[in-house]
Amino acid sequence: MTDDDRALDDDVHARLTTEEDACGAALRQLWTYLDRELTPDDEEELRDHLAGCPPCLAEYSIDVVLKDIVRRSCREEAPAGLRVRIRQTLLDVRADGV
Ligand SMILES: [Zn+2]
Repeated sequence: MTDDDRALDDDVHARLTTEEDACGAALRQLWTYLDRELTPDDEEELRDHLAGCPPCLAEYSIDVVLKDIVRRSCREEAPAGLRVRIRQTLLDVRADGV
């Protein structure tokens, strides 16, 4: 491996790390956003991120569906683990589809 290759690797790693941080922050804000509890500035930032980041947009779609299911549930208490189970199912479907 030449020095140039190594420099390139570092660049890619730095970029991925930065993206990962941005995605992590975006995903942490997702449920707050869905609850409409973000500030307008944060909301705009999150929307900008989703527009340019397909993985986060997919995650957003899953969470929208989840939230809808939870909201429509007539039960006083959703069964423990229901959210986790639905989420895993949706992720599996997504993984199969790609
Ligand atoms: Zn992202």
